[in-house]
Amino acid sequence: MTDARMILLNPGPVTLTDRVRKAMSRADWCHREPEFAALSKDVNRRLANLYPGSRREFAAVSMTGSGTCAVEAMLSSLAPRDGVTMIVANGVYGERMAGMLDAQGKRSICVQSEWLEPMALAEVEKHLEEEPAIAAVAAVHHETTTGRLNDMNALGRLCKAHGCPLLLDAVSSFGAEEILFDEWNVQALAGTANKCLHGVPGICFVIVDREVLERSQSQANSVYLDVFRYFKTQDDDGYSPFTQAVQAAFALQEALIELEESGGWRERRSRYRSIAHSIQDTAASHRVDTLLAPQEYSSVLWSYVLPEGVAYPELHDSLKREGFVIYAGQGHLGSRIFRIAHMGDIRDSDVERFQAALTSFFG
Ligand SMILES: *Cc1c(COP(=O)(O)O)cnc(C)c1O
Repeated sequence: MTDARMILLNPGPVTLTDRVRKAMSRADWCHREPEFAALSKDVNRRLANLYPGSRREFAAVSMTGSGTCAVEAMLSSLAPRDGVTMIVANGVYGERMAGMLDAQGKRSICVQSEWLEPMALAEVEKHLEEEPAIAAVAAVHHETTTGRLNDMNALGRLCKAHGCPLLLDAVSSFGAEEILFDEWNVQALAGTANKCLHGVPGICFVIVDREVLERSQSQANSVYLDVFRYFKTQDDDGYSPFTQAVQAAFALQEALIELEESGGWRERRSRYRSIAHSIQDTAASHRVDTLLAPQEYSSVLWSYVLPEGVAYPELHDSLKREGFVIYAGQGHLGSRIFRIAHMGDIRDSDVERFQAALTSFFG
């Protein structure tokens, strides 16, 4: 089992393509040599250009860490020290951002919904109208807790109307869902290498309005989690203030080239959607229901209700014996749901085998 091809249907890390895996076994490079600095600049440029067409110019900085590192660095550097950040939460990751701002000692309000509900936009609007101290809004694009793709068009419109910059956790959407930087008033977003981009864990990144990086003061109360510090050196000559995950950078560069060659985020979204629908067809044929209505989901991950009498570990272990790793629910959803992500090198034949494995379990 350990060396056989394992299909990861969890929300990152992902099943790698052969070419990304090979990229990691290049010669050993030092992160303080010019060849790595050039690679680093190339990776940042590709990240910033994956969504072209914004009227403003954006710059990417990359850091060694997981997705949480990017989110925390974004909030550390850009959530104002002397203002209030409003967090809009409907799951684990929104609530985690509230915890980060608490830990940073910054003022915040959290507009929280039940995990199965959409963002509470009426409440968001009321706060924006009544509280001039709100200087930034933070939200999660794709709430991986349930698979819900949050209505960023609506939230973004409110941010724009009130002149509030949006800080976006795009960790599980960047590379596979539409992101409208201007319409949503995005000031920065956080992402990671090992979800929709199909790289390996170790690198995360923050993409920021270049003008903010060039003209504003960092709000960071951390040395490591200060994107301004990374920007200063990475944007200049490609060097990084701290050791970078060299092999993860090899993998990310290759994964970004592969993504560009295969048609960019739009193609990736339609691939994920097609996998989602195939799996849902099979689930539905065994009366396994989705947790949300199908149109509420991202392309990236869907959640399913465990049928009466089925315990998650049983399902997980049975699928794992067939070479597939699925994902449990979090918190109070832990005993109620299972989740299936569609990221990574998942081939048609893998989908077919997975459908057969579901059928032999539920059938
Ligand atoms: C996965 C995820 C994170 C955290 O990423 P880690 O790599 O686990 O630190 C943050 N936000 C969202 C929306 C995610 O899906």
